[in-house]
Order: sequence, then C-alpha cells, then structure tokens
Amino acid sequence: MTDDLSRLSSFIRVIPDYPSEGIQFQDITPLLADSWALRRAAELMVEPFAGQFDVVAGIEARGFIFAGVAAALAGTGFVPLRKAGKLPVPAARVEYDLEYGSAAIEASDQLAPGVRVLLIDDILATGGTLAAGLELINTLGAKTVGTSILLELEGLNGRERVPNVHSLFAV
Ligand code: AMP
Repeated sequence: MTDDLSRLSSFIRVIPDYPSEGIQFQDITPLLADSWALRRAAELMVEPFAGQFDVVAGIEARGFIFAGVAAALAGTGFVPLRKAGKLPVPAARVEYDLEYGSAAIEASDQLAPGVRVLLIDDILATGGTLAAGLELINTLGAKTVGTSILLELEGLNGRERVPNVHSLFAV
C-alpha cells in the first residue's frame, strides 16, 4: 500500500453492530471531513480512467460526494443515479434485490447513447447497487468506461457482479 493509501485508510472507522447487529459499518464521514483525504480519494478513483470519460455518474447518496469531487477534478459534468421517485425527468429505472426486499434507481436524462461514463460509489458490498447502476447506463445506450469505489467488502463477493471495479481498499 502506498503512503497515501495508508494515510487515507486511517480516515475510515468501523462501527460494530450498526445499523443492526452483526454489521461492521464502514463509516467514511471522517474521510469526507478532511480536506486532503476527500480530494486525494477522488483523485485516486479517477486516475486509472483519466481522459477516457465524458461524465461521472454517482449513486445516491454517498456516491454523489465522490462523484461530484471526481467530476470537478476531471473537468467533466456529473449525472445522478437516484433512488426511484426523486428525479423530475427520469430516463430509465432498474429494480434490484436487497438483503430484504428490493429497491430501484433511476437515471436523469443526460446519459445519451455514446456518452462515456465513469461510475462511482462509496462501497461495494453485495454488488447489487453497482450492478443496477451499470444496467441503467447500458439501458440508455451510454458506455461505462470504468467503475470506481473507495472500499470493497471482500467477504460479500460483490466482484462477481461487478468484475472490473477499481477499489482503493478491500477489507
Ligand atoms: P450493495 O448493493 O450490497 O453492494 O451495497 C452497496 C451500498 O450499501 C453501498 O453504497 C454502501 O453505501 C452501503 N453499505 C453496504 N454495506 C455497508 C457497510 N458495511 N458499511 C457501510 N456502508 C455499507
């Protein structure tokens, strides 16, 4: 691990049994609150895909933060993939399974065919959310050139659903 990654990892804290027993919640709020860490994390998420994308798409809610910073650093725009029912002009919707029940996300109408997209979220757990994001981009004819996240929870095998994801950390 590089010095920067090692320093960044110190800003992620684990909260046991939150929001329910047995969950090791990865709390990234200390990282978001540090000016160096927020910028450096976004830079490292973009780095492998620099110059290859037209917009950054972020998944609600924590994905918005890194995607917004990444877009500003890369000099591109940002497109939100939001929880269903929040966008005034949704272009497409994808439903996906959660551990209990299901959820849906929608894309706003800027992802036209041919647009090259870097997809960003904070954490890869089971991979359901990111897989839905990829499907949404694909449905609209846009092209995902890369998927970047801060942290991957390896035990949940999310990589099986999102094979080429670039993660800064794995726990
Ligand atoms: P999944 O669809 O299972 O990959 O879950 C992805 C989303 O759930 C991520 O965007 C995280 O925000 C959140 N999440 C899942 N597990 C955790 C965890 N242990 N700590 C913090 N956030 C989590």
